[in-house]
Amino acid sequence: MRTHLFTKITHKESIMIIQGLQKLTVLDFPGQVACIIFTAGCSFRCPFCHNATLVKGEGDVISEEEIFSYLKKRQGILDGVVITGGEPTIQKDLKEFISKIKAMGYKVKLDTNGYHPKQLKELLDAGLLDYVAMDIKNSKEKYALTTGIPNIDISRIEESVELLKNGNVPYEFRTTTMAELHSTQDIVAIAEWLEGASKHYIQSFKDSGDILNGTFTPLNEQKIAEFKQILTKTILEVGTR
Ligand code: SF4
Repeated sequence: MRTHLFTKITHKESIMIIQGLQKLTVLDFPGQVACIIFTAGCSFRCPFCHNATLVKGEGDVISEEEIFSYLKKRQGILDGVVITGGEPTIQKDLKEFISKIKAMGYKVKLDTNGYHPKQLKELLDAGLLDYVAMDIKNSKEKYALTTGIPNIDISRIEESVELLKNGNVPYEFRTTTMAELHSTQDIVAIAEWLEGASKHYIQSFKDSGDILNGTFTPLNEQKIAEFKQILTKTILEVGTR
């Protein structure tokens, strides 16, 4: 039997490795009042990652019991749950975990890096997701550099893009931009790649104080506006954050 004290839970005992719970957000799940669950670990090592502790799995583990006890208390108050990371789709029990959350009446938004299309498809096909936000890290040419994965298999990202574009679940693509990694040519290439997508957000890099590896510079407003204009040519709705 598992203990309720999260300080005593080890990685082995926990089914989902959760290392964060933000109890309230009105910004992260469009149209919903939600909480955010942060899963540990990631298949990428984006040098600019603003959640280094979580990606390396070095945070305090929170038990599923603690999560479900919170969700039970907030039934009827919160509309939804955002599951983010790290990368949630590397958790082997994610489907069961989301099923339990859905059974409580919550809507679920998944944040993903798109590198696990099989898992994403399984969740979409099972009707377990109400919204998906997928990162588009850069142009295909610069994906390895931007994710810190030299031998990246870009076809897996392409597959996830097509799953979302051709599916029925509302989604957004999003790109965190910075001077060191994103040029105008990269954005032109992304615009061509994602042609026909419903929504794309350009996010400005912000230094959280927990960056994985290196120093990065946010782009100025003029450059962001230029990127937005380029993406607007092929994508229905383009926003900035
Ligand atoms: S930015 Fe996202 S995809 Fe990249 S290492 Fe961090 S959590 Fe993983």
